[in-house]
Amino acid sequence: MIRAARMSSCACLLASVAVIAESTHEPKLLAQDYTLLVRIVNYAKAPEWQLRPMRGHVDRAFRAIGVHVAWRDDRSLDPLDPSTLTVALLSPAMIANKVRVEQIPDNVLARSARGVQHAWVFYERVVKVPQHSMLDLGTALGRVLVHEIGHLLIPDGKHSGLSAMRPTLDIQTASVQRFTRDEGESIRATMRARGVFVELAQRPVR
Ligand SMILES: [Zn+2]
Repeated sequence: MIRAARMSSCACLLASVAVIAESTHEPKLLAQDYTLLVRIVNYAKAPEWQLRPMRGHVDRAFRAIGVHVAWRDDRSLDPLDPSTLTVALLSPAMIANKVRVEQIPDNVLARSARGVQHAWVFYERVVKVPQHSMLDLGTALGRVLVHEIGHLLIPDGKHSGLSAMRPTLDIQTASVQRFTRDEGESIRATMRARGVFVELAQRPVR
């Protein structure tokens, strides 16, 4: 789960407004040993001009830990197929129903359920983030997806302070937020353990 930074109902949100010093240099990329299949179900009817930078942001975050993301949008795919993670961009009606049934606070931007390999993005809430931040919508969506996919792949699902797994959305910087080294290894270990992801030919780390 990730929360909007502009809300002030949680003490941990205070830390989210601090500017994080991030390197302007791209980190040395690891060999992309793994391909992660991510199916996007666009109930929100988000336009492609928003989805393209969203996918690009996710691509860069996972490339940095040696994982290639292969995108799918085929609704005929079995949502419970363990080889595919599903991210649903919810419509307003779906959001209203989900937050009512699950009593979700209004500063929550997305949720995920590791057991069913599924994440739900509250699209209309994320749309409002750029109005109060340095982020464009594609980056905001991308950060939310990276975070929730992280929850689906990191076994203990813990949040961390400054990585992509921080509990609140950083609205002060627009760069790609990355996983820590430990989180990256944890994600790759999950993929190895499941044995359901496409493993590409090993390439040497440059
Ligand atoms: Zn979270």
